[in-house]
Amino acid sequence: MLGLNIAAKPLFGLGLQVGLMRKSLVAGNWKMNGNSASIEELVAGILAGAGSSPAEVLVCPPHVYLAQVAAALCDSNVKLGAQDVSVEASGAFTGDVSASMLKDMGCSYVLVGHSERRAIHGESSVLVAQKFVAAQNEGLISVLCVGETLEEREAGNTVAVVSEQFEAVLDLAGIDAMKNAVLAYEPVWAIGTGKTASAEQAQEVHAQLRAVAAARSVEVADGMQILYGGSVKPSNAVELFAMADIDGGLIGGASLQAKDFLGICAAG
Ligand code: PEP
Repeated sequence: MLGLNIAAKPLFGLGLQVGLMRKSLVAGNWKMNGNSASIEELVAGILAGAGSSPAEVLVCPPHVYLAQVAAALCDSNVKLGAQDVSVEASGAFTGDVSASMLKDMGCSYVLVGHSERRAIHGESSVLVAQKFVAAQNEGLISVLCVGETLEEREAGNTVAVVSEQFEAVLDLAGIDAMKNAVLAYEPVWAIGTGKTASAEQAQEVHAQLRAVAAARSVEVADGMQILYGGSVKPSNAVELFAMADIDGGLIGGASLQAKDFLGICAAG
């Protein structure tokens, strides 16, 4: 079965010598959706099928439902993540949630730099890098999101934009930080629009991002999971995840239906 064959990707640099493989990861970003009843149903649906997923499975509910989801996931292999984190450790930061609080709630992952945070909340690459470091200091695995707008793509600036976003983190956190972090390429024009990057378009950017990391450490670049996000569905996941440098997906809309999400996990 195709899904089983591509569940782990052979590494092309150091990995080839030592026989390491990259596992795939499928992460659901539920954004600001759901309530306690719908979330109970969604988690139960995911748990019913996640055991046979060839990919690692991660769900990122809204902060207020983290405790509920953590309790439901407790005996499973499904990982829990948050959608955002403060750069601050504690104190007078109304509405913010610190990395240690996320850890305390059972999170092992956190999204940083999602394009909706960059665009709607004006988060700069420097702030995103600081959030990444705050998460790292608490032992959380960041899923660092990078991506270009349609205008930036059409102007031929895709690689420059995503490289700048990625390098801001590498400059602050160092390349070794990517041993315990995940990168997600999410073209902004593909998020929630139904327009998916073709597998070739996505692969091209993923390979460039891996090359950015490889310029600092081939070993880290080889081991680093790079997810694709942007209108992934069960119908396009197999083709996307089969690409050499695509190690799974970050899923928005389709992660709100257990059947669709599990269908994507099966391609992982
Ligand atoms: C996202 O917001 O991370 C995302 C990929 O959304 P969607 O799958 O709905 O495009």
